[in-house]
Amino acid sequence: MLVNMNTLMEDAKKNNYAVGMFTAPTMPFAEAVIEAAEEMNAPVMVGQVESWRQYGDIEKYGPIMADMAKCAKVPVCLHLDHGQSLEYIMRAIRAGYTSVMADFSMLPFEENVEMVKKCVDFCHSVDISVEAMCGKMPSVYELADHPDLDIREYFSKPDELKEFVEATGADAMTVSFGTVHNMKIMQPMLDFELLKELNDATDCSLVMHGSSGVEVGQIKQAIPYGIRKINAYTKLSTAAQPAMLAEMNKSEEPLFFHELLDIAKKAMKKAVEESIKIFGNGYDFSSRVW
Ligand SMILES: [Zn+2]
Repeated sequence: MLVNMNTLMEDAKKNNYAVGMFTAPTMPFAEAVIEAAEEMNAPVMVGQVESWRQYGDIEKYGPIMADMAKCAKVPVCLHLDHGQSLEYIMRAIRAGYTSVMADFSMLPFEENVEMVKKCVDFCHSVDISVEAMCGKMPSVYELADHPDLDIREYFSKPDELKEFVEATGADAMTVSFGTVHNMKIMQPMLDFELLKELNDATDCSLVMHGSSGVEVGQIKQAIPYGIRKINAYTKLSTAAQPAMLAEMNKSEEPLFFHELLDIAKKAMKKAVEESIKIFGNGYDFSSRVW
């Protein structure tokens, strides 16, 4: 069933788990994510990201993904990740998305507040949930280009988070406390002291981006501190290549493209199932009737 993010956050809070949000630039990803969630009988979030719009047309894939979500046996939220313009956020809503991230964290605090407030006002009027971001999160590429950069300068500040949520009415907030985007190898050190202060500063659901390189123990440690949504892409997406290579090396004939896609999808599905299990924080989804 297709739901918005607030429905999922409410249940996650009540049962102390986090919902996985898996970026799906194109259809094989969306199929892998929704099938994995159905197999685990767990709620899930899936959707495209504005910066990769060239890989999948939101007008073309959005309605299909929304339809897949409606047909799913578990609650599925179709969520736009890192929406960075009002124009694209509106396009996502028109395409059938039920939730958006209004990411204006590249702007100064006051302007970020102003843009998110604008989004919240129109989104809430049509039952669309809104995630925003306070503080900044670099990618591993930015860190590589600027080795002297102190990541702590990017971290979210508890007083700003409180003020941001009160001023905008955002439903969930991405917080920066040590994770970075596109991480495959680096081991981040998460600042749990800060995360606790951020959680104490607001009732809003907190979101962790860049979870793929984070150690399982640290992910589980973050959930009781209010992390109710965890974004993952690198882990599922990079699961495809080794699986495809192994099958290609075994075969003497060139494989058909649909066979390659199927191999990739199965590998990604397995990675999503592993993530859902970790984010579930011990919660037993199997007995839930959705
Ligand atoms: Zn992100």
